[in-house]
Amino acid sequence: MLFASIGVLTVFAGHAQNPSSSISAVETVPAVNQWLSPGDRLQVRLIAQPGVQASFLNGQPLVELTPAQAQGKFGVYQGTYVVQPGDTLNDRRIEVQVLTPDSVLEVGFSGNTVRFLNHNEPQLAVTRSDLAYLNYGLGEDRLGGAKLGYLDSLVVLHLTGRVGELYRVQLATGQHAWVPQNVVRLLPPGNFVPTSLTGSWSVQGDSLYDYVRVPLSARLPYRTQLLENPTRLVVDVFGATSNTNWITQRTGLQELGAVYYEQPQPDVFRLVLPLRHRQSWGYHLGYQGNTLVVQVSRPPAKLRLRGLLVAVDAGHGGTNVGATGASGAREKDLTLAIAQKLRQELEQAGARVVMTREADISAEISDRVTLLRQPRPALLVSIHVNSAGNTTVQGTSAFYRYVAFRPLAAALYKQMQGTGLAGWGLVGNFNFGLNGPTEYPNALVETAFVSNPADEQRLTNPAFQQQMAQAMTRGLKVFLKQTRAKGPKGWLLKQAALEDK
Ligand SMILES: [Zn+2]
Repeated sequence: MLFASIGVLTVFAGHAQNPSSSISAVETVPAVNQWLSPGDRLQVRLIAQPGVQASFLNGQPLVELTPAQAQGKFGVYQGTYVVQPGDTLNDRRIEVQVLTPDSVLEVGFSGNTVRFLNHNEPQLAVTRSDLAYLNYGLGEDRLGGAKLGYLDSLVVLHLTGRVGELYRVQLATGQHAWVPQNVVRLLPPGNFVPTSLTGSWSVQGDSLYDYVRVPLSARLPYRTQLLENPTRLVVDVFGATSNTNWITQRTGLQELGAVYYEQPQPDVFRLVLPLRHRQSWGYHLGYQGNTLVVQVSRPPAKLRLRGLLVAVDAGHGGTNVGATGASGAREKDLTLAIAQKLRQELEQAGARVVMTREADISAEISDRVTLLRQPRPALLVSIHVNSAGNTTVQGTSAFYRYVAFRPLAAALYKQMQGTGLAGWGLVGNFNFGLNGPTEYPNALVETAFVSNPADEQRLTNPAFQQQMAQAMTRGLKVFLKQTRAKGPKGWLLKQAALEDK
């Protein structure tokens, strides 16, 4: 909305103390601190007495909008300046000059600051932890901005802009992303923008995983996609150019097929890693020194619950109560009760279970993800309780982030409906932290709506909680069975074993 950002604090210099000043607000749009690069647009809005002459920076005109353009308002002025190479501005408030009809000159300043980046001194940053991530854009909601993907620690990023709490990262020519300020550390000036030639790969399997190792000369940012039909993992490494003159494929490979690379543009190196199974079991990506290591998970040898390590996540907890029902049922209590019953059911089926919490404690999402790194589960189910403003909305739903893990969410969803709950929907691309891990198939179950009286009654009923736990256990079994059936006839594992002989 046009005026959403107006009404924020305005700082005046010059005639600031003069209550009769014709200036009532100066803001950049968006009204947050910004860093801009050559070619970026600085947008300024001024609210002042109608009919003045207004300009910003060094004489850039501010144009008075007609009331029709400005939602019926008078005295709204806007101007755009495209930052030019060589422009300098060092975290300054934007100065606006106003000449009133009776020739009084007034000066106002924006509430926030702007920096024009000097590209002769590239601004670099490194990721602070291996839970750092890139966002596609500037969006924000309760799940945070839509994530492009996670990064390892100490990955070097070239920053070319800032909008509020997000830095813009130049990934490659024509490609950028955004990184939250709090997941990176700025580097002092004097560094070069990192680029790298790629070395020759090593492709190898050990007793647990298949690996691709690509030597680089710096920890460059990357993006991964787990694709289907055929199942394959695609990794784009930004700032890398091929000098990979061979790819040695050693013994022990069970999941990787005929791997190869592409160079879709001069500064994007792409690993294409075909997988042998139609159901991918995920991967982990990170650096050892400056060598990029792709660790590919294999489907469990025996696709059944017995012996499998399953992670069960009871949503919320402690100070994070979650949703609350009309009769007072709290999400954090319901999820824990259902999670404990699910654990019981899974253990009865012979699975081993790791819980992200077993009591009413606060646990950050990131801590839960970290907790599940060791030991790494084969599957994860996160349990939640849904809520809507409209109390007639009811039913169960399941969520996944990566399309490769959709079959798990779909199996859980179907079995949950078998309890008599209405089907609310199967939701993909879900930008939730516990749908973030790429290392194992995972899904989130929004069991039912606590905001709906009928659903709330079910949710609080221990017998029905047990039924839901049984349904989820069946869902996992069905997923494993489907995976077994889906695996190309006779399992390609056997074929891989033959090739190795
Ligand atoms: Zn929840």
